[in-house]
Amino acid sequence: MSTIDNLPPLRDVISRHELRAKKQLGQNFLLDLNLTAKIARQAGDLTQCDVLEIGPGPGGLTRGLLAEGARHVLAIEKDSRALPALAEIAAAYPNRLTVMQGDALKIDPLPHLTPPIRIAANLPYNIGTELLIRWLTPPEWPPFWDSLTLMFQKEVAERITARPGSKAYGRLALLAQWRCEARIAMMLPPEAFVPAPKVHSAVVHLTALPQPRHPADPAVLSRVTAAAFNQRRKMLRASLRGLHPDIEPLLESVGIAPTARAEEIGLQQFCALATALKQAGPGASR
Ligand code: SAM
Repeated sequence: MSTIDNLPPLRDVISRHELRAKKQLGQNFLLDLNLTAKIARQAGDLTQCDVLEIGPGPGGLTRGLLAEGARHVLAIEKDSRALPALAEIAAAYPNRLTVMQGDALKIDPLPHLTPPIRIAANLPYNIGTELLIRWLTPPEWPPFWDSLTLMFQKEVAERITARPGSKAYGRLALLAQWRCEARIAMMLPPEAFVPAPKVHSAVVHLTALPQPRHPADPAVLSRVTAAAFNQRRKMLRASLRGLHPDIEPLLESVGIAPTARAEEIGLQQFCALATALKQAGPGASR
């Protein structure tokens, strides 16, 4: 295995620091540094960027990001056992790596980052979707980050990038694609990780658009898509009945057949419906 820096191979690092993977921390490590460099390259030119990495573990992707030239990496890791290995990387790349120990769900990274900011991570599977939803729903748009380069289980990656009409299409696709360009950048087999998970994985790349593709109030859009996809087999006139007493004419006013089902409806139509609902107000109470 070739190395991308002068640091020891990751297998040695793991055995020296006794970093046996823990399932409850979602630990599936990437040990091939050529692969981690390839993943880092999916994030684009990092030389002028700060990179936020969640869950660096023994630091395979961290090394990839630094070797690819990231201006600065802020890495947040919950497992204190990884800190000595990460300190060795910080020493090899002076002033370019900051490690914070703690729960990424509880730490606000913003005070420690300078724009432009990109996020790159092989996410712990148990908090990956929660973090993604947080990053996709900031109080203001555009968000604090320019792009996200994230490893997910293949099935989650497909839900993020799904198009109408497919089984994977739902709220996550709409949320991601409303204000981002989202695509699967790489597929990885279970054997790419140690230990090998049961499922295939994929790297998803999301780029924040300067503004939403179609105007809509985020809270109303969220309510509409929740109601529509929580009962995805039902016709929209039934699943959305609770949103407005005149839902059928409202659906028709934006060109949606009241008998259609959620998975047939594209982003533009959901946004138009959210806007029509907002304009219509609460309507007569039922
Ligand atoms: N980046 C490493 C790699 O690619 O080999 C490790 C990836 S592993 C899938 C996920 C990492 O996230 C582990 O190092 C784990 O300890 C860490 N982690 C789990 N929960 C976390 C949390 N709440 N906050 C920060 N890190 C967490």
